[in-house]
Amino acid sequence: MSYLISTEEECHTTQQFDRSLYFNKTQLKAQGWKDCHISEFLSQPDRTRRNGRECLYIRSRVQTVFNSDTFPRAEVESVLQRRESRRNRKQLAEIELLTQAHPTVPRNQIEKVVSEKKRIYRDQELGYNTGVATATYWRQLGYQPNQPVWWYGYAVEESNLAPVYSKSALQEVDDERSPDDVWADYYNRHGSREIALAEILRFSNRLQKVIRHPGFYLLKDYWITLNQEYLREGRISRQERKECWSCNGTGQFRYDSCRKCDGTGVYSKRKLYEHRFDIQGREYCFHSYREPQNITDTPGADLGFYGGAFQASELPLPPQSLLVRAVRIGLVEIFGGPVPEADVRRNERWRYSIFWSEE
Ligand SMILES: [Zn+2]
Repeated sequence: MSYLISTEEECHTTQQFDRSLYFNKTQLKAQGWKDCHISEFLSQPDRTRRNGRECLYIRSRVQTVFNSDTFPRAEVESVLQRRESRRNRKQLAEIELLTQAHPTVPRNQIEKVVSEKKRIYRDQELGYNTGVATATYWRQLGYQPNQPVWWYGYAVEESNLAPVYSKSALQEVDDERSPDDVWADYYNRHGSREIALAEILRFSNRLQKVIRHPGFYLLKDYWITLNQEYLREGRISRQERKECWSCNGTGQFRYDSCRKCDGTGVYSKRKLYEHRFDIQGREYCFHSYREPQNITDTPGADLGFYGGAFQASELPLPPQSLLVRAVRIGLVEIFGGPVPEADVRRNERWRYSIFWSEE
């Protein structure tokens, strides 16, 4: 009887397990091995993991077996070749399909997309509403992609492919102009303070979907309140309910009715309204939780997002932070001060409630 243990066993028992020294079956099959090769030439695994469900084979042993005279290397190589040609055929078919769909794009660019396993975004998948677009598009809205960028596909841009960027990779462009410059620009363009302000609000409201500016909604609701005399129609867009967390919306807590929600199961509810204004003959539609002066029976559109595409004449936009400050200037010019100040350090709602209770 011997108390000596072999080097291999020693490596299993006393030294730390190094996974990189082993192949499992999936890795062997990726190299063209078949089950019959594994069972015939490697027989027992050198180690098992996951309760015997994963068999591990020492790499150096696999290499020795592969190089031995009896091993059918040609079989393994032909498996790899068949796999390779199947992959090539699939890629070729994909390239053909994309070339037909985008005939203006050069073929080498399409080949690059396929080899990178990326995809080409369709037009309706792009824009501020979906949060994915090309750098050119984002720059028109006052944003630029950060470095390093996170891009995950391409879009067709003037018969070339341009990488797309998600809104999480954006920052505002540097703009030399002051908020007064921006305000003056919109005022000169429309020749009316009221229209200029409504236009800036409209754009700024859309840009909130890209990166939320903390002070914007306070100013928007302030404008909506002060313009109620121009309200043409108010509608209810949707009712939002927050379920009570204490009782999971059942209204029952142990053997009593839930105190957090008075047994209703609803922690809070609020309505989203649609305000349709007529500002000097132009129609403006904004959504807000602020209740309109009058509400018609017509339900408002209940959509995941609101706001259409930008017109070429409306672009490029100044960055959102400049727009929001221009809104403030417009509000002071039209309605006089003071304009409510968003207290960003605390909660936006805190000042908001003071403001409304003073009214
Ligand atoms: Zn409750």
